[in-house]
Amino acid sequence: MRGQQALIHSPYVGRFAPTPSGPLHFGSLVAALGSALEARRHGGRWLVRIEDVDVPRAMPGMDGAMLATLERFGFEWDGEVLWQSRRADIYASALERLKAGGHVFPCACSRREQAEVPDSILARDGSLRYPGTCRSGLPLGVRPRAWRVRAEGTIRFEDAIQGGQEEELARDVGDYVVFRADGVFAYQLAVVVDDAEQGVTHVVRGADLLGSTARQIHLQKQLGLPVPNYAHLPVATNAAGEKLSKQTQARAVDEESSSRMLVAALDFLGQNPDAELGGASVRDIWAWALGNWKMERVPRVLQLPAAELARR
Ligand code: GLU
Repeated sequence: MRGQQALIHSPYVGRFAPTPSGPLHFGSLVAALGSALEARRHGGRWLVRIEDVDVPRAMPGMDGAMLATLERFGFEWDGEVLWQSRRADIYASALERLKAGGHVFPCACSRREQAEVPDSILARDGSLRYPGTCRSGLPLGVRPRAWRVRAEGTIRFEDAIQGGQEEELARDVGDYVVFRADGVFAYQLAVVVDDAEQGVTHVVRGADLLGSTARQIHLQKQLGLPVPNYAHLPVATNAAGEKLSKQTQARAVDEESSSRMLVAALDFLGQNPDAELGGASVRDIWAWALGNWKMERVPRVLQLPAAELARR
């Protein structure tokens, strides 16, 4: 697929940005395929970024294994792979810019302290919303543990699959962390800095990240970065309705049956792959997919249990 359809002049830049905390599973295959096909359909570039900013969570060797799996599934990315673990200096300078702009404040709260504050209530995603303890400054002699962004304003955006979205940051999210107490830059900051630096114009990824998008747009505005277009694909869930992930014991994609898995992912994405494609080579499946991909066919929510599809 590399170069095959890439017209140098197309302004479209897409990407796939896996976290190497476990092997590629069906959900990540779906996100990789949807983002790659949409980029190629536009004659655009498609990049791969290894999101190992959270070094303690990354599994040693998993980055290479993921890239090898992608290759075996027929994916071909443009340019060099970017590793977040090598970019701490760049995230540090973005944090300095946020500090200079007065957008962040140091926070000394531990998780336990936050939970004990009586007006801690839940954010939209069910996590604990920060009660604002350190917002107006730290008590004398208290050392900051993390840096948080002041959650202010309402973010609205149009998602190409999920439709119009609106989040009132203070109510729905709360002041959010960009530099963690364990010395790690938060995903929200890294992803925004990297998408801008790589010139990403279109983010196509799983709907489990829909709730992160408002924060990312908020950060893009504060850092003066362009806001890409967003499209959130339906998310594969297991029989219990949980997102397929390393945490929910998602099975690694089976490379022995890469053709079958690719066809299942196309089916999941609403593309109605021809029945005979099941027995086709990876190359032929890509040729079919590149010629037939239509984002309009992608369902907003899952129509079939992904676990069932992944078993086929
Ligand atoms: N690294 C994230 C994940 O694997 C994806 C981030 C993104 O696509 O923005 O879930």
